[in-house]
Amino acid sequence: MDKQTIRLVFIHLLVLNVIWTGTSATALYLTLFFFVWRGLFLSISYHRYFSHRSFKTTRGFQFFLALAGNICMQRGALWWAAHHRMHHQYSDTEKDPHSPIAHSFFTSHIGWAMEKKSFITDYSRIKDWEKFPELKFLNEKSDAIHGIFALFLFLLGEGLRYFKPELGTNGFQFLVWVYLIGGLCHLHTIFLVNSWGHLHGDRPYDFPAREGRDNSHNNAWLAWLTFGEGWHYNHHCFPFSATTGILKGQFDASFVVIKLFEKMGLVWDVKVPSKEVIDNLKPALSQQEPGTISTLN
Ligand SMILES: [Zn+2]
Ligand SMILES: [Zn+2]
Repeated sequence: MDKQTIRLVFIHLLVLNVIWTGTSATALYLTLFFFVWRGLFLSISYHRYFSHRSFKTTRGFQFFLALAGNICMQRGALWWAAHHRMHHQYSDTEKDPHSPIAHSFFTSHIGWAMEKKSFITDYSRIKDWEKFPELKFLNEKSDAIHGIFALFLFLLGEGLRYFKPELGTNGFQFLVWVYLIGGLCHLHTIFLVNSWGHLHGDRPYDFPAREGRDNSHNNAWLAWLTFGEGWHYNHHCFPFSATTGILKGQFDASFVVIKLFEKMGLVWDVKVPSKEVIDNLKPALSQQEPGTISTLN
């Protein structure tokens, strides 16, 4: 096993420390709060903004978005965007870093993230962000930001133990629950979009203009867990779109927040597919067999 694999296995095993740290209602609420935070900002910031530029914002709010997504256990925003752009360019081919079609289910889910080459940010894929040195700084210091977040949680847990002992918290309890358990739950749900979402689910309409060949699918249950990311077939059809829930009844929590940011004047030029394009989508003649690459192109 290489260093990265050992690190990831070790992080998972650390969860067992919950036996010693115990649980409190405060820890559970905080875990839930940061699960929602991670889910929303991974989607809104790392995915829809930094990877696809599906809306515009100020330099200051852009910095906040990069920072907000950095607690997702998935390195920096530029690292994420570079890998994700590769996924769209080479979907479900050998060059796709996390395809269950080209690689194994395990590799597509989490194995790819253990590979040494995955730790490198390919800056040639994110040249559009080159003019913002602060983004590069955050990207290079992503581990340190994780460390600061962990320290904040530890001090918060210890502070509450001292000032509000009746809550039953402590620093290590917050680290295990909020940082590790919440972080890993979020990591695995978003990784399911790459693994499960490229094998199983629905492809409700034909979209011949879709870029590249891919095996993406929509999964409603996954969309709920990932704040909209589970509508992955929609996303591959309309990668520029700030919303993934383009059909009636497809709830996309991240888009609700993006619209809220728009109302607050924080973001603008929010891109969505035109009504005409959506209205003219043709129902799929047949659902694709799970695990087969679409021949719609
Ligand atoms: Zn995909
Ligand atoms: Zn994408």
